[in-house]
Amino acid sequence: MTLQEQVEQWREETADLDPGALITWAWRTFSDEVVLASSLGAEDQVLTHLIAHHAPQLAIITLDTGRLFGETHDLLNQTRRQYDVNLRVFFPDAGDVEAMVNEHGTNLFREAVALRKKCCAIRKVNPLKRALAGKKAWITGLRRDQSLNRNEIAAIEWDAGNQLVKINPLANWHDQQVRDYLRTHKVPYNPLHDRGFPSIGCAPCTRAVAPDEDPRAGRWWWEPREQSECGIHIVNGKVTRRVPVLVE
Ligand code: SF4
Repeated sequence: MTLQEQVEQWREETADLDPGALITWAWRTFSDEVVLASSLGAEDQVLTHLIAHHAPQLAIITLDTGRLFGETHDLLNQTRRQYDVNLRVFFPDAGDVEAMVNEHGTNLFREAVALRKKCCAIRKVNPLKRALAGKKAWITGLRRDQSLNRNEIAAIEWDAGNQLVKINPLANWHDQQVRDYLRTHKVPYNPLHDRGFPSIGCAPCTRAVAPDEDPRAGRWWWEPREQSECGIHIVNGKVTRRVPVLVE
């Protein structure tokens, strides 16, 4: 049976599991062939805390695009200090970045959508592909209430784009649950979240939004809205998250 064919069965088997138990299940089922792809966002920090307590050997991968906020680097260090987890940072290919910057300039993403996508491909999509190579499953912090179509995120689903089983332990959680969990368990999180940043990606491409503003308005705000996704969390051609994990 292929991985894709097993997804439905796994979804039924794990239907009653809470996020911690689902992480334990993921580790027992996939061992070193499952990773948490963390953007160090609020949900991913919850998952890192859960992994530290339920499956500390489970690999956590994150990307350093070279354009992150200083606060994000501080959070990365703080997370390493606080948790004894298997955390690995992936970087873009230095030669690709060098060629891109020398040809198009440092801030090419402001000039055209195609150049922004090129930057995202080199700094985020390609390193993520490298991080996921050889894996069978990945864990993400996707939540149903972040989706444009609430029914499209299940706790376990098939990720056709990446040919991986995608496990979303927080699929049923609401924003307030995430905040409460961070506070109750003293989980380190990015202080920019308290300054109007609902999601935090590269510094030049992320800005704070007003409380009543669409969170997507804080990303690539100079582009037409329909262009503003990186392409990682697209299911059946539809955007499944306001701001994609890792490629924020
Ligand atoms: S978010 Fe901005 S700086 Fe980061 S990879 Fe994409 S275009 Fe480049």
